[in-house]
Amino acid sequence: MKSVRAAWACPIDQPPIRDAVIEIEDGIIRSISSGSRLPAPGSRDLGNVAILPGLINAHTHLELSWLRGCVPPASQFTDWVKTLFAIRGRPDGGMSAAQVAPIHEAIAEARASGTVAVGDISNSLAAVGPMREANLDGVVFHELLGFKERDGALIDSTREMRSRAVSAGARVSLAPHAPYSTSLELFKAIRSAVDGSACPITSVHLGESAEEIEFLQKGSGPWRGMLEIIGAWRDDWPVPACDPVAYLDRHGIIDEKTLVIHGVQFGDGALTRLAEIGATLVTCPRSNQWVGVGYPPVERFYKSGVNVAIGTDSLASVEDLNLFSELKTLRWLAPGIPAAKLLESATLTGARALGLGDELGSLTPGKRAEMIAVTLPPQVEDVEEYLLGGITPSQLDWV
Ligand SMILES: [Zn+2]
Repeated sequence: MKSVRAAWACPIDQPPIRDAVIEIEDGIIRSISSGSRLPAPGSRDLGNVAILPGLINAHTHLELSWLRGCVPPASQFTDWVKTLFAIRGRPDGGMSAAQVAPIHEAIAEARASGTVAVGDISNSLAAVGPMREANLDGVVFHELLGFKERDGALIDSTREMRSRAVSAGARVSLAPHAPYSTSLELFKAIRSAVDGSACPITSVHLGESAEEIEFLQKGSGPWRGMLEIIGAWRDDWPVPACDPVAYLDRHGIIDEKTLVIHGVQFGDGALTRLAEIGATLVTCPRSNQWVGVGYPPVERFYKSGVNVAIGTDSLASVEDLNLFSELKTLRWLAPGIPAAKLLESATLTGARALGLGDELGSLTPGKRAEMIAVTLPPQVEDVEEYLLGGITPSQLDWV
């Protein structure tokens, strides 16, 4: 048995503990308590730091890391997407070695800023190897899309890719991209494939842009135009004439194992329904601003009672994969939400959403001792609030 001592611990599942002692055996947390300031034999005193569980970045696209700084901020979402497509090409195309290399750098950076696991969206599954090499945990969501897909044939034709990723040790699931890019038939086929799988968690981009709302309500607007230009529009698509949550809910596509990404455009009705379903809303505020959809209504998210997790999204729409930077933005957007709630979103809620709630996300006896120590200034009134102020990699270490 080893033990570490620190000025503070933020266990997440209980209030911060001053003069904390954490006992660890075989990489598992055995106990956490408040001890004396005197060092005990065999214990490691970390000094004036706050220990907290490794953070969970519930929405990334690691395979887009090579696009860092290439797709400038836009004032309209479809403009940002057009630039992305122009540089990237088709999302289901292969990736060159030069495009894969930045995945390693991005993962190293995420680890250095305290991230232990990610919910990673991938068209190529290129991040699977780098994640394993760097010991980055999480779920890789193999994202499928196609507005003209009339069945689930795409699931069968890509099965071999996922089998290889599973053999390499990854936890892999399927995810539809978004309502304006994925047919209802493909949505339904993915839903049934996921339900019977070993990793029955899925993810969907939803309610990100005002253009998506217009498309679902009226079947018109920039998304309709884009589908027509690329020859993917279908005259037989029944315009749902409702909000994105109602659309997928009507067809039984959202459940408590669904990560709903963004929700910038959600009204209170949609948020309440998501809370009833028990889905997890993943907010990525810095990316939202970058791609031109505006900041999310974060206080309304929390007041609705929905589970809120946090993601950075990809390096094509954010400066870095540091979840502490995302927390700083969330604190600015939602000054009325308790610091403890925001920290829970960056840890325990994300871990639960990814099926890792029994292993990660809090300093609970029995969970893995994947912990970070953030250096504190000499006097800290409120340690949780301090952690929302923007923590950089130079201020933290893995315990
Ligand atoms: Zn995304």
